[in-house]
Amino acid sequence: MTTLIHTPQEMIRQSQEWKRSGQQISLVPTMGALHAGHFSLIEQARRQADRVVVSIFVNPLQFGPDEDFSRYPRHEAKDTARVTAMGTDVLYLPKAEAIYPPGFATRVHIEGLGDRLCGTFRPGHFDGVLTVVLKLFLQVAPHLAIFGEKDYQQLQIIRRMVADWNIPVEIQAAPTLREGDGLAMSSRNEYLTPEERTIAPRLYVVLRETAKELAGGVAVSAALESAKVDLIAAGFTKLDYLELCDAETLEPLAELKTPARLLAAAWLGQTRLIDNVAVG
Ligand code: AMP
Repeated sequence: MTTLIHTPQEMIRQSQEWKRSGQQISLVPTMGALHAGHFSLIEQARRQADRVVVSIFVNPLQFGPDEDFSRYPRHEAKDTARVTAMGTDVLYLPKAEAIYPPGFATRVHIEGLGDRLCGTFRPGHFDGVLTVVLKLFLQVAPHLAIFGEKDYQQLQIIRRMVADWNIPVEIQAAPTLREGDGLAMSSRNEYLTPEERTIAPRLYVVLRETAKELAGGVAVSAALESAKVDLIAAGFTKLDYLELCDAETLEPLAELKTPARLLAAAWLGQTRLIDNVAVG
């Protein structure tokens, strides 16, 4: 049976009760509009803990003033039915006022790692992510939390926060689930027009081809330049970035040094897509 919880107080009480009886808790934080990528995280959590908590919270703090907070897809009834059918123990659905009550004034701030890549184009985004993730960690007190490699920079930033603050939680990565044509599953794919949807898979195709070239010895600047040209030629309207980075620190690499990660953010009209692949 799945218990629906709406407030931090109830969540803390439930978690403390489980802990008193020695049960292992795993957490899968999401923003809802769930797809198979999310379900794979939930299954990964289920395999490794006595109790699984899935949270759905569209976190206003991680959206910029001109971003898509108000139109972000929300499918609460469908999500609840699916998460319940998967045997999740708790579906945590807090309201924004419960997470950020009047007077809320503190933030987690990350330097360095949070200013690059998506951080350059979405100022404050990762502070918003970390603030809510820390709140979830304090409320759920999970032994294990699972995050997708789809949001690779987010994953590394969360690992950084957990190390910096000695948070007693194991962070596990989950591989990116893709549509049949390679497009990384994302709640934001719902925004794509039919024409944009035919272009979108090219992002992964170009990333994979470029990763292969880099691993084969092609110079980094030449490989990245030709990938950018390919993406624009494919129909992407704007590139925020396409960079080769150290897989852990996300420092940009002028020469290939493994383990490395190739990361990109590209626009199709009003929709911003991100994706990444391992190199080498
Ligand atoms: P979101 O609801 O988009 O905030 O994502 C919630 C969690 O699911 C994050 O840890 C994401 O990285 C992960 N996730 C999103 N899309 C995918 C995907 N296609 N494959 C695997 N994990 C994903």
